[in-house]
Amino acid sequence: MPAPYCGMDCLLHDHADGAFPVGAKLEWLYIKNGKPLPRPGINLRNMVRAKFTDPNGDIVEAFSHTTGLMQSEETIFEVAKNHVIIRARQGIRYDEVMLAPQYHLFGEFQKEAKNNPVKALTRVINAVVMGIKAGEEASPKIEANFLVGIGRELSPRKAIQVLKAIEKSDRNHVVGANIVCDKNKFPPERHRATFEYADTAEINFEFHASEWIRRPKQNPDFQRDLPMLLKDLRFVLELYKKSRSKTKKRVGHGIALPYDTDLMRIASDYGIGITGCPGSNLQGKNIPDLESLKIKTMLLLGILWSMNPDDDFFQLDINEIFQMCNDVYRFTLEEKQLMRISAWKTRFGNRKPVPSDIYPFL
Ligand SMILES: [Zn+2]
Repeated sequence: MPAPYCGMDCLLHDHADGAFPVGAKLEWLYIKNGKPLPRPGINLRNMVRAKFTDPNGDIVEAFSHTTGLMQSEETIFEVAKNHVIIRARQGIRYDEVMLAPQYHLFGEFQKEAKNNPVKALTRVINAVVMGIKAGEEASPKIEANFLVGIGRELSPRKAIQVLKAIEKSDRNHVVGANIVCDKNKFPPERHRATFEYADTAEINFEFHASEWIRRPKQNPDFQRDLPMLLKDLRFVLELYKKSRSKTKKRVGHGIALPYDTDLMRIASDYGIGITGCPGSNLQGKNIPDLESLKIKTMLLLGILWSMNPDDDFFQLDINEIFQMCNDVYRFTLEEKQLMRISAWKTRFGNRKPVPSDIYPFL
């Protein structure tokens, strides 16, 4: 299978409910959910895609247009399986498939979610894992694992229920947890206890942090938001510093990182991965331009920064993102390899051999 032409063959930040592969399943999902098509012959991809593109829209509501269609074991399984097969076809060799089980408890699992939430969450997680395994069976060259999203609107008590479900799951395939969604209403401080539980339970952890902060309807302004973006990032990195486990830790986005030397030093010294998503940052208007990400500076300082798609169902795909960044940065071969190595080094799972040109660097 060819590698994607940009060379980025290890994806760590890939929301399956907002990913390119889910688009191919929309019609099937509509039928399975007994939903009539709004009109015959409609392009469902374009219709659903349009729901995601309002930068001031509510993020959980936007994603409900895909998560709402995955409320049964069968649909969750199929989306996960299809995701892995399509990523493998695109030449991806390692993928952390992200979904947040809490958004899949409104159909088949609803009753159980009320009586025994951990059990219901475990069933959702198992459905994803079964799908991933089936996808891997069809495409054995890829290693795909489940990175469990936790929508940050959950209270820490409920977020810990998700972690308990992870503990009950197949830990070979369920490789970590990731705090996702609205960063403005629910800053990282809300989930200190969630992280501490994960740390004790030896669950690898990522915080989406320092991605965006502005209030609804507020115009984008990177400079105005920078102090708040740095504050969130500082909280997360200081929390990671205090970790007592050997688990891997990452920050999703972290767009303010190159604007604080001390924070860059922590990220580099502690081997904290940064899963960068430049296409998403640009489309969401969270950065004024790609130069603002200062990717070369971070690579130069030994920060494990990787390039990822975030949500390529309605955003750019990894090849397009790389091309746009390369037009701006003119990466050297060494820098390009560093981004790949960063991804492979900071991946949470490790079941299959890595590509032979990456192996010597790990
Ligand atoms: Zn994300």
